[in-house]
Amino acid sequence: MSPVPVLGSEHVIDADVVISAIGQKVDQITMGELKNMSWTRRGTIDVNMVTMQTSIPGIFAAGDAVTGPATVIEAIGGGKRAAEAIDRYLSGIPQPQMPPVPVRRRREACLEVPASTKTVIKRPVMDMLGLDRRRTTFQQVELGYTENMVREEARRCLRCDICRRCGRCVEVCRDQMGISALQMGYIDFDHPTPTDLRITEERCITCGACAANCPTGAMRIEDRGDERLLILCGTILNRQKLVFCDACGKAMGPKKYLDFISKRVKSVGDVAGQHVLCEACARKKTARFNVDTLPV
Ligand code: SF4
Ligand code: SF4
Repeated sequence: MSPVPVLGSEHVIDADVVISAIGQKVDQITMGELKNMSWTRRGTIDVNMVTMQTSIPGIFAAGDAVTGPATVIEAIGGGKRAAEAIDRYLSGIPQPQMPPVPVRRRREACLEVPASTKTVIKRPVMDMLGLDRRRTTFQQVELGYTENMVREEARRCLRCDICRRCGRCVEVCRDQMGISALQMGYIDFDHPTPTDLRITEERCITCGACAANCPTGAMRIEDRGDERLLILCGTILNRQKLVFCDACGKAMGPKKYLDFISKRVKSVGDVAGQHVLCEACARKKTARFNVDTLPV
């Protein structure tokens, strides 16, 4: 709805000073008395961006007058920096030379979600104030999420704070293993593909090469109970049943993985007759067979 002029409603208000604060241009004339104020070429106030102090000691500035038209967040950030610097200035504490560097205090655990679910979770629809109330009150229009909605929304998070999309996992799976089970869109900028978290389940053999080469720990491989799981920042990309050694019960890996390896390395996972044996048990069995059968 756009404003409509009300005929005859114009009137004059007596004022000592009128400050135009529409965030488009700094009115330098109103600061004419501050002769030593330094200005940028854009006509904004020149400040030290760490302390927000102007060229006049003891005078600080922040907001659009410094940055030019920008967001409220940037203005609030500048205001906070200025407030800290003013406190230091008045307390006689030296000002920092460099801006404070954000330090990660801890890493929030990822929420585990199967890939098939991750791809279909929708953003919850937020309740809004009715149109009548909006017209007649100043109440908040967006009424917020319930706790369950917040939890659902959190499950959509891709945890880009952990996976930095370097593409190493995609490269290893495609070029070293020759499997191409990972399709994380736009990691290969020359050959962009749509992201498909579900394709991994069809192709992946859970060899763990991608996890072993992930520099941030975003990709993990884990044996849990009788399954091996491949997990990317909480999204379960694949889970396969483990095969256990018939002799000692040791987990040897999922069948797909053993088949892949046995095609390349004859000694691994000796499938002798009806028995599936790990390397150590297969070696023992061969040694016993040799002792029993070789002529003295
Ligand atoms: S999962 Fe690891 S290796 Fe793969 S893109 Fe993310 S950070 Fe890089
Ligand atoms: S675990 Fe799966 S996705 Fe990772 S490299 Fe091996 S086959 Fe590829």
